[in-house]
Amino acid sequence: MPISVAIVGSGPSGFYTAEALAKSDTDCQIDIIERLPAPHGLIRYGVAPDHQTTKNVSRAFDKTAARDEVRFYGNVDVGGDLSLDDLRAMYDAVVIAIGSPEDNKLGIPGEDKDGVIGSAAFVGWYNGHPDFVDLDPNLDTANVCVIGNGNVAIDIARLLVKTRGELSPSDITNDALDAIQASSITDVYMLGRRGPVEAKFTNVELREMGKLEICVPQIDGGIIPDAVPEDMEMSDRDRRLRDKNLDTLREFAPRAADELPKRVHFQFFAAPREILGGDKVEGIRMERTEVVDGRAVGTGEFFEIETSLVLPAVGYRSGGLEGLPFNDDWGVAISDEGRAGDGLYVVGWIKRGPTGVIGTNRPDGQQAAKQILEDIAAGSKPGREALEAAIAKNGGRIVSYDDWLTLDAHEKAAAREGAPREKLITVAAMLGVLDGA
Ligand SMILES: Cc1cc2nc3c(=O)[nH]c(=O)nc-3n(C[C@H](O)[C@H](O)[C@H](O)COP(=O)(O)OP(=O)(O)OC[C@H]3O[C@@H](n4cnc5c(N)ncnc54)[C@H](O)[C@@H]3O)c2cc1C
Repeated sequence: MPISVAIVGSGPSGFYTAEALAKSDTDCQIDIIERLPAPHGLIRYGVAPDHQTTKNVSRAFDKTAARDEVRFYGNVDVGGDLSLDDLRAMYDAVVIAIGSPEDNKLGIPGEDKDGVIGSAAFVGWYNGHPDFVDLDPNLDTANVCVIGNGNVAIDIARLLVKTRGELSPSDITNDALDAIQASSITDVYMLGRRGPVEAKFTNVELREMGKLEICVPQIDGGIIPDAVPEDMEMSDRDRRLRDKNLDTLREFAPRAADELPKRVHFQFFAAPREILGGDKVEGIRMERTEVVDGRAVGTGEFFEIETSLVLPAVGYRSGGLEGLPFNDDWGVAISDEGRAGDGLYVVGWIKRGPTGVIGTNRPDGQQAAKQILEDIAAGSKPGREALEAAIAKNGGRIVSYDDWLTLDAHEKAAAREGAPREKLITVAAMLGVLDGA
């Protein structure tokens, strides 16, 4: 009897686990269970729509899904349609690969005002995630404040100032494209508590900000050091990357504010202290900071920016899953290097937290596969058969990988000129295409 393995979540970590198991010499039956009809997690719904090359990694996932041992069960919510305990009773091993879909909070007064939208929701909206299609952000504002100094913050800033021509070849949804083009946005503020040396942008993304059609980067050159200070501890590789970022920021410094109609302002040493306004956001109060022992410390000097849209991009957390040992303070699963219980494993962001690139999830998958094969000598549970029976009993509509390929072809055929696809943005629309509604 093959070892039956259920992988919950079809993002990179789920697919890399499936790949490692399928390539092992042991006979395994591998089922990837995904809440949404569409697979690939943040490759589809997180990675910026104008970075299509990055999304190409999903072609490798198509190959994994096509293997005999692997089956995809889309539109099945673990924790909703069936519980983790149900799944553990059905499968020899269960791997949790559900990511970290919730935003970290800023923890400042006014954060719940209408007009503060976390990056998970905002990115999900422009990427056509079914949970966020109704977000309807108010883009009728000259200034937007993006809080955070990582790649997610820079993705958001870039998309808000690109032209229709620049965005059209991406897979941003038509709704989001039209809303951004109709917006009154002229100035995007990227606000970071610490300095240029600490910023976590990768250099390719940062350089892109200097090459936009109608938007010019703005930074006060006086705050950019010549190089990363010698006494800052980091690997040689990190030091080189950060020095490169400083070079890029230095190139931005002389550019004139009126060179182009829009601006992205890199404002470092600025910590958000309060979101201002009534029910709706009217501004943000910031405090200037200095970095002491790597930490941002307030200087007592404050300033305000008028805006009706504040987009915190300050990291993600998971909300957990009933039955999964969970550290609520950190928003990650509790595990011993991935082992979370008898026959229970975690991989990817739910295991490590939201860090690294897509490829960082691969060793997680390989490690989980190794652990499963060490822990379980032979299969003894029914796996797939029991899962299908349980879903049929609840009247659920499973979306298979072939169904997904049908949706994929439909989206590609519906693309505006030059774009890779026009996404189906609701579960009903996806099921409608499959079932001919
Ligand atoms: C905005 C953004 C942009 C990024 N851009 C890049 C980039 O350009 N390059 C790069 O290398 N990395 C990028 N990353 C990082 C990369 O996306 C992550 O490293 C990776 O997606 C994490 O993989 P994961 O499998 O842990 O989680 P996810 O990709 O989040 O996958 C989790 C999956 O589990 C599913 N799921 C959740 N709950 C359930 C449930 N209860 N039942 C069933 N299924 C469930 C979800 O629907 C999802 O499909 C980006 C991340 C973000 C947030």
